Amino acid sequence: MPLREHTKYSHSLLLLALVLLLGCGFLATSLVSYQASLKSIRSSIVNTELPLTSDNVYSEIQKDLVRPILISSMMSRDTFVRDWVMKGEKDVEQITRYLREIQQHYGAFTSFFISDRTLTYYQTKGVLKKVNREEPRDIWYFRVREMKEPYEINVDVDLANQDQLTFFINYKVFDYDGKFLGATGVGLTVDAVIKLIDEYQRRYDRSVYFVDTNGRIVLTGTAGGPMGAKVGQKLAEVPGLEALQARLGRPQTGKFEYQEQGRGHFLNVRYIPELDWYLFVDKHEGGLLSGIRNTLYLNLLICLLITIVVLVLVSRLVRRYQQRISALATTDSLTGLPNRRGFELLAGQALQEARRDRRPLVALLLDLDHFKLLNDTYGHQAGDLVLQGFAQNLRDSLRQSDIICRWGGEEFIILLKDTGNSTAHQLAEKVLGEVASKRYPFRGVNLQITSSIGLAEMHPDDSLDSLIARADRGLYRAKQSGRNCVCVEPSGHADVQ
Ligand code: GH3
Ligand code: MG
Ligand code: MG
Repeated sequence: MPLREHTKYSHSLLLLALVLLLGCGFLATSLVSYQASLKSIRSSIVNTELPLTSDNVYSEIQKDLVRPILISSMMSRDTFVRDWVMKGEKDVEQITRYLREIQQHYGAFTSFFISDRTLTYYQTKGVLKKVNREEPRDIWYFRVREMKEPYEINVDVDLANQDQLTFFINYKVFDYDGKFLGATGVGLTVDAVIKLIDEYQRRYDRSVYFVDTNGRIVLTGTAGGPMGAKVGQKLAEVPGLEALQARLGRPQTGKFEYQEQGRGHFLNVRYIPELDWYLFVDKHEGGLLSGIRNTLYLNLLICLLITIVVLVLVSRLVRRYQQRISALATTDSLTGLPNRRGFELLAGQALQEARRDRRPLVALLLDLDHFKLLNDTYGHQAGDLVLQGFAQNLRDSLRQSDIICRWGGEEFIILLKDTGNSTAHQLAEKVLGEVASKRYPFRGVNLQITSSIGLAEMHPDDSLDSLIARADRGLYRAKQSGRNCVCVEPSGHADVQ
């Protein structure tokens, strides 16, 4: 492969290696940090944020239930209620007023008393009904009657208030001897809990809802449940939640991840024993991950820019060094003239042009006279100084377009373009005159030198070698003729003629 192409090839290879190295390095570090942030965000959502929201919602519910439980407890110990029942439930207005007072004073949604003896359901407006063991809506009372605990929290529809979903605190009432008299308590609407759900959903950008043990949605924020599902709908029937259903099966406490139409979801489920419901706190990763995804893109963009800048800088640097190295390879360091290698590149082109345009071209071969003597007498440094001075003389005497080169040692070669034999001869004589008259000051001595010149004009059949060989013969004759002179070597053509 030619040198120039080889250099270009190595240059491209170097740039390619850099692109690969920087590209792979940057890509790897960006992706690793992206994955790490992803993992830490996911883990903080799954292990901290969602459970925390569950805890908060749970404790808010508990807090909201404490006051009604206290009121119900107080009602169950109230001597008026117990005395009134034990005296035969005579004046209904008395118990009705009592219940109304409780409701109004404590801001309850409803308050009630069920007498075990008469199975009468008293509420704020009077007698509501008789409870009946056969009536499914009254089953709760018979359950309360049998239970060991003093009270229960029951979420049910309220018969007295257009079947609104209500939290009931059902407290058992006993007489002074511990005989069961009935059940009393208050009911609360779930509005407060719905407001709480709305607030959590808005504040933390997640969806919060309750599901019963059969997988039916029982309580949501005002905007509805997941995917806009309504209360009463089964989770399994909500379109889009098939993957969740497959994961979850029946509602159960735990952490789950599932996909909904290509969106990742994190879900925390918690059992609320007081309600026998499951609290669902769900967050989709959409907005959450877009932030770190944008950071990744920004990272990659910065890496791309750095790679481009590095490539441009390295490419420029390499090119500049290549130019310098190739200049060094074709330049003589002592005189700054082209060396033999440089000359061959320039001369080849000059010969071609002269041949193509049928223009004359002359080669001059110069050799300093008795240079060894000068070196021996004044030292090598003096010789170097003379060589530099001599090279400068040649530059000063010739045109920019002429090719001057240090051929080796104290020999120089010149190619004069567009110049015929006689003009070249005159020019060579002029150079000899100028060189001979020059003085080169060195450590107090004015050094002096002369040169011999062999001259040959290019013939159409000449190669560079044959042209120089003839100039060399001319130079030999000039040395033979006593030096400090020009000898023209006739072309082979002329010889034949
Ligand atoms: P002639 O007139 O026949 O050419 O005699 P000459 O002494 O010039 O010839 P010769 O070829 O014997 O000597 C050339 C000398 O040039 C010998 C060498 O040490 C000296 N020379 C070659 N290159 C350099 C150089 O770069 N610096 C110095 N100072 N001397 C050099
Ligand atoms: Mg010589
Ligand atoms: Mg010499």
